[in-house]
Amino acid sequence: MGIYLGLDIGGTKIMAAAADKAGNILRRARVETSRTLQQDLDNLNRLAAELAEDETILGIGAAIGGPLDWERGIVSPLHQPAWRGIPLKEIMGSRWKCPFWVDVDTNVAAMGEYRWGGGAVGRLLYITISTGMGGGFLVDGKVYRGAGGGHPEIAHQSINFRCSNPSAIQCECGVPDCLEALVSGNGIRRIYGVPAEGLAAEQWDEIAYNLGQGLRNLADIYMPDEIRLGGGVAVGGGEPFINKARDVMREHVKLVPPPEVALSRLGYDTALMGAVALAINGFGQV
Ligand SMILES: [Zn+2]
Repeated sequence: MGIYLGLDIGGTKIMAAAADKAGNILRRARVETSRTLQQDLDNLNRLAAELAEDETILGIGAAIGGPLDWERGIVSPLHQPAWRGIPLKEIMGSRWKCPFWVDVDTNVAAMGEYRWGGGAVGRLLYITISTGMGGGFLVDGKVYRGAGGGHPEIAHQSINFRCSNPSAIQCECGVPDCLEALVSGNGIRRIYGVPAEGLAAEQWDEIAYNLGQGLRNLADIYMPDEIRLGGGVAVGGGEPFINKARDVMREHVKLVPPPEVALSRLGYDTALMGAVALAINGFGQV
């Protein structure tokens, strides 16, 4: 027997799960992300050893923030300054003598939704709205890559927005008017002066309108069968928020069939479950 190991390496916590070939979770654990690279690597190895128990690790899949080189497994997550140009595939693969795959967390989350969250459609677009915003697009269960193998940045599009405090809009990428600056957790704090959970109803309406405009562009350009939304802001706004955004999208999409729009079914486990899928399947079809 052997196990497959999924890792979700985030800026505040690292989650790990051991699963069987069918994806049944056997054991799981989590630890806070530390301030040093060496401590984080030690923690990854300790979690792997604990979760494997006496079994062989047959494959490891990992989700981490971009940017990264998915072919060589070299990562430099933007929000983890201690991690720069780290050859994670080489480090983990040689330590555990097994195949290792790592990809951008939103791509991996899309794999989770596809494989374990009922999102197995031909073209699935997964979007996370949390501190920041990003997406992963799967075509027939495989990650769609941009030019040079790059990761499309669906949140850094401009939209026809509504905003009650327009002078406070500023995207962290340096451009003033990206969708992310209007709907992400950090954007919300900047514009409305409160976290998402402190928003008034009319402020949620404004954010839902802006999200709907972004979905409209994505629907027209990508033509996905379904758009799944996860992350703290999407989950916090819940069905009423998603329904409003969907309505705005539908009003503005005339020439293509409007995609299904739904909340993630895996909650905060999307990337972890995707990492399990990655451990089992590699970069092939999820
Ligand atoms: Zn931007």
